[in-house]
Amino acid sequence: MASAPAKAAFLGLGAIGRPMAAHLARTMDLVVWNRTRARAEEFARESAARVAATPREAGTGAPVVITCLPTSAELERLLDGPDGLEAGLAPGALLLDCTSGDPATSRRIAARLAGHGVAFADCPVSGGTSGAEAGTLTVMVGADAATFARARPVLEAFGRRIEHLGPVGAGHAMKAVNNTLLATNILAFGEGFAALAKAGVPVRKALEILNASSGRSFVSEALAADRVLGGQWPRTFRLALLEKDVRIALGLVEETGVPAPLLHLVGELFRHARGVLGEEADHVEAIRLIERDAGVEIRG
Ligand code: NDP
Repeated sequence: MASAPAKAAFLGLGAIGRPMAAHLARTMDLVVWNRTRARAEEFARESAARVAATPREAGTGAPVVITCLPTSAELERLLDGPDGLEAGLAPGALLLDCTSGDPATSRRIAARLAGHGVAFADCPVSGGTSGAEAGTLTVMVGADAATFARARPVLEAFGRRIEHLGPVGAGHAMKAVNNTLLATNILAFGEGFAALAKAGVPVRKALEILNASSGRSFVSEALAADRVLGGQWPRTFRLALLEKDVRIALGLVEETGVPAPLLHLVGELFRHARGVLGEEADHVEAIRLIERDAGVEIRG
């Protein structure tokens, strides 16, 4: 007789959490919880998953729990209280946090959970919603070696490259720096291409040349063609979340004593963009502010 599928719980069915959870539902006995319950119910109708009424219920009887929330602060609050996740977790359980969170809060959460025998790993992901759908995410793990060994087979459901970077917090540090370089490239691309557009250089041709030259980046190779030059601006990753990532990286450069004038400027510009464009704008829309200030549209 075939053995029953392993149990797991997933909390946080947002833009990226939902396709990650869909992969887990294919091979595991999955229970889901989402703050807006209707989203969890919709997910359960489409995937083989059950809906939990509270975070505590989601965690009860689950040897593995995966969370994907906006920041570590939301995870910390989700643990609290009689209906909180921590109340449901049994000794021996494993909490994998796929939030792009911050190292200090994660270390605090790990110490708190270790108090009753629950292991924790920070496991932020990269690859966007399309990578989550394809199951090809890069996963950056901060944990002790034994926890990483337990986490890997679970993370393989949606991750292609799964890397252990060091103790708890190391995954979040890596992710924050990665995303700060993404934010930097978005702004640099926008400023450079606004100037090219105003100078009368055909931007489609310019993009082709850039992508065959040394200034290319993920922004120029994967984001610019449809989103900027095509003017599509889909909303897949909120600018507010990228601004949060830059803030986490700025905490890291301060903590480590690295002078980082460029990254501080990127942080300032993204804080401004968040204030102007609001909580729902997509990260690439930062370029729309550059276009507005320059009085040009980068289309072609
Ligand atoms: P979304 O804003 O789409 O979703 C956020 C999720 O968190 C929703 O399920 C939301 O519930 C839930 N949530 C928000 N606030 C609370 C709260 N106070 N308590 C409980 N649940 C809450 O974010 P994403 O899915 O895009 O991002 C999630 C994480 O993954 C972030 O840290 C982000 O930086 C990271 N990430 C995102 C990528 C992307 O391409 N989108 C790529 C890589 C990393 P509700 O449905 O009720 O709003």
